[in-house]
Amino acid sequence: MKIICIGRNYIDHAKELNNPVPASPVFFLKPDSAILRNNSPFFYPDFSEEIHYETELVYRIGKLGKTIQEKFAHTYYDAIGLGIDFTARDLQNQCKEKGLPWEVAKAFDGSAVVSKLMALSELGNMERGTKNGEQGGIGFQLRINRDVVQTGNSKNMIFSIDRIIAHVSRYMTLKTGDLIFTGTPAGVGPVQIGHHLEGWLEDKKLLDFFIR
Ligand code: ZN
Repeated sequence: MKIICIGRNYIDHAKELNNPVPASPVFFLKPDSAILRNNSPFFYPDFSEEIHYETELVYRIGKLGKTIQEKFAHTYYDAIGLGIDFTARDLQNQCKEKGLPWEVAKAFDGSAVVSKLMALSELGNMERGTKNGEQGGIGFQLRINRDVVQTGNSKNMIFSIDRIIAHVSRYMTLKTGDLIFTGTPAGVGPVQIGHHLEGWLEDKKLLDFFIR
C-alpha cells in the first residue's frame, strides 16, 4: 500500500509557512514503512533537530480505481481516522532551498502516525467528508501536554477529499488500503522528547502517545 499526502490544503497553514496557495492539489508519498500505529511511541530521530507535528484527517481507499471522476470519488473511500504527518522541518527547508525531493524530511520511519480508522458507517452523527458534492464538516484537534495546539475542520480544506481522489487518480492507480493524508491546518510546531500527544476526531480520542 502507499500513503499519499496533500500539502498546503488549508489557506491558514500555507500562509504560516509562506507558501503560495496552490491551484491544484500538491501531493507526495510516504512508504508503508513510515506507518506508526496503535499509539506506539514516536522515537525522535537523530538526523533532525526540528521535528514538527502536522495533524491531518486520513481517509482509507476502499476499492481499486484509476482516473476517478470527482462525482464518484465518495464511493472510493470507506474509513476516516486521524494522522500525524511528522516532518523534519530543518531537512525540508534545506530540500526546498536546493530544489531537492522531500523524502528525507517526510518519509522516514514513524513519520506517518495513523489512528484507528473508523468506518464511515461508525461515524454516527458526524457528517461525511463530502455529501452530494458539498463539504460536510469533520472537526479535529491535537493537544500536547493538555494544551490545544491545532484545531481543524474538513470544511476548511482547499481541496475536498473527492477533488483529491479525482486529481491523484489521474496519475496513479489507487488501491484498496491506500491512505490519504489530507493536509494540516495552521498551528504546526515542534515536538520534544517527553511530549504527550492526544488527538480527537470530533468527540472521539483516537491518538494518545508519547515522544521518546
Ligand atoms: Zn502534512
